[in-house]
Order: sequence, then C-alpha cells, then structure tokens
Amino acid sequence: MSIISSILTQASFSSSDLVKLLGSEGDEMMLLFETSNKIKQNITGNKVYFRGLIEFTNFCIKDCLYCGIRKSNHSIQRYNLSDEQILDAVRFAEEENFASIVLQSGENTSSTFTERITHLITRIKDQSQGRMRITLSLGEQSESVYRQWHEAGAHRYLLRIETTNHTLYQKIHPKNSLHDFNHRLDCLYSLRSVGYQTGTGVMIGLPFQTIDDLANDLLFFQKFGIDMVGMGPYLEHSQTPLFKFRNELMTVQKRFELSLKMIAVLRILMNDINIAATTALQAIDPMGREKGIKAGANVIMPNITPGPHRKDYLLYESKPCPDEEAIQCKGCLDARIAMVDAIGGYGEWGDSKHFQNRTISE
Ligand code: SAH
Repeated sequence: MSIISSILTQASFSSSDLVKLLGSEGDEMMLLFETSNKIKQNITGNKVYFRGLIEFTNFCIKDCLYCGIRKSNHSIQRYNLSDEQILDAVRFAEEENFASIVLQSGENTSSTFTERITHLITRIKDQSQGRMRITLSLGEQSESVYRQWHEAGAHRYLLRIETTNHTLYQKIHPKNSLHDFNHRLDCLYSLRSVGYQTGTGVMIGLPFQTIDDLANDLLFFQKFGIDMVGMGPYLEHSQTPLFKFRNELMTVQKRFELSLKMIAVLRILMNDINIAATTALQAIDPMGREKGIKAGANVIMPNITPGPHRKDYLLYESKPCPDEEAIQCKGCLDARIAMVDAIGGYGEWGDSKHFQNRTISE
C-alpha cells in the first residue's frame, strides 16, 4: 500500500500526515479526491447549497498588502450600494430560490455603518418573512456589534484568519493595531460565543507560505471546531504591495491544485462542516468551483451584486464575470454542478451540520 493510501485509512492525522496528503500527485491525488468526495456524499450528501453574494461596498479602512480594495489603492472607483439596491439583490436571490445571502464589504467600524447593517438585517428578514438566512462577512468588529447583528437576525459569519502563521500574517499586513493577528483571532472567538455559525479560511499560495503552514491552518480549523470554511488561491493584484513578490509564487496552476487538495484534506479531517468552493478557484479555471465541489466542497456563492459595480470589487485581478449581470451567471449553474454529480439545494438553508452537532451536544 502506498504511503498516501495508508494515511487515508487513519482516523486521526498528524501535521506530517497532512503535509504528505497535500503533497500528493497523480494517481495518489486522485485517490485523495475520491476519498474526500465519498466522505462528503456520506456525511453532507450530494447537495450544493447556494449563498447569493452581495458585495455592497468596497470602501475599506484596512490596508492589507494583498487586497485590491485596500484603503491605499486609489486607482479603483469606490461605491456603496443603497439599501434599496441591496434589497433588490435579496429579492433576486428569493426569485432564484437561494435560501441564503451573504453581505460582504470592505471593513468599517463606524456606528453609521454598524447601525445601517442592523437596520438592513431587519429589513431583509421582514422582506423575506424570515425565510432568508443571512450570512455576514464584514470583518473585525466589537463583540457587542456582533451580538447586535446576531440579535437582529444574522446567523452566520465569515471571517478569514488569512493564515495562522503569525510571522507570515505580519508580512502580509501593515504592522499596526488595525492589522493584528491576535485581534482577528479574538474576533473569531467572540463570533462563536455570541452564537454564530462561525466560518473562517485562508489564502493558499501566498508568498513565503509553506506546506507546513497550510497543514497547521487545517489543524487550527479542527482545533477551533470551525463550522464553515472558505479558502482559495492567493491571486496577485498589480495595485498592491505584495505584487512585488510575484516571481516567488508557485504557478497559478499549482496554487489551484493545492487549493483543491486543501479542500479534500479538510473534508477528510472535518467531515460535517460546510466548505465553500470559492470564486478565486473559478478565476483560474472556468470549471474551478465545480472541481472544488468534486474535491469535497458543498457550498457555492454565486455573485448577485448588481452588475455595474461588480468590476469595482476586485480583491484580485481576473475575477470571473465582472461584466455580467447576476441573472446571466445563474443560467448555467445547474448544468455545471450536475457535471460533478451534485444537485442544487434550492430553498434549503443548508446549515452547517457541524454547528448543529456541536450545539446539540453543548
Ligand atoms: N473585509 C472583509 C471581507 C472582504 S475580503 C474581511 O476582511 O473579512 C474577503 C476575502 O478575500 C479576504 O478575507 C481574503 O482572504 C480574500 N482576498 C483578498 N485579497 C485577495 C487576493 N489578492 N487573492 C485571493 N484572495 C484575496
């Protein structure tokens, strides 16, 4: 038996096991994907749940060295959708029978912003008569703000830790209190204690990142007991400081493959969580998200941001469909996921089974 196939029979995994799995190639990599897919089918089923993604503003107080909407990037046009535009996008999600939406934006901790969100959550709930599940992805906030939003009706929160290697975290962020690893981690703990289904994730293939780092990221997700994960390849953006390290990166194809392996290994490590096949995968390969589903992901976040502004929310360049209206992207969704033996979980919330299991046992 090969080393990979023998590791795959284990019930628990050390960091060095994970490094070996992440390094698998050829037939062994295929075996990894088959194993993760089987686990997904058995535990979370063959449904893919949709979260309509609304990137409602690209104003951001932060200056992350990798991100295209960082505060210091003056070459982009800043926008802020009106409440009515956001509610229209929610209506579109309802018409498409997506039972869940994600409100994502740049970071902003002002009370004008946080109160606006509370108000919006209430309006979305009223408009959908409580049927629409609301996920937030609005960065670092105080625990009381997280609580206020939860009480208003948001039940899931995504906050990527980006990398769990503190030194690497410092290298890819400005060194100041607004970009502090421990604060971001504290936010994740706050989110969980407030009662959110808590999601995090990392970028894959960052400059200076090693396979050991990625294995440790996976062990962190497990130790934290995270409910949802969204992770994808790092894609360099020419208007960011990290762009100068572009020659030190692995090829885009390798980053893509490594991202699929991260999804597969995570599914093997944490059978019952929700894992998103992220847009960044699709930016590299037109079938990227579908390949992510095949590797063990069970969530897709179709972008339903009203067309005209989609091109202005470029975290990285070569983002798919920036010019298309939401409706045009939806047309091919069903056919595409059918190609990887999955069906759409229309009208279903598709909550994280891991969250349900942990809150029952608490
Ligand atoms: N401001 C919010 C959410 C918006 S950014 C927050 O910080 O939570 C959403 C995610 O996009 C980030 O967490 C990061 O992981 C990812 N991202 C940003 N720049 C990227 C890049 N150049 N390549 C790949 N992913 C990137």
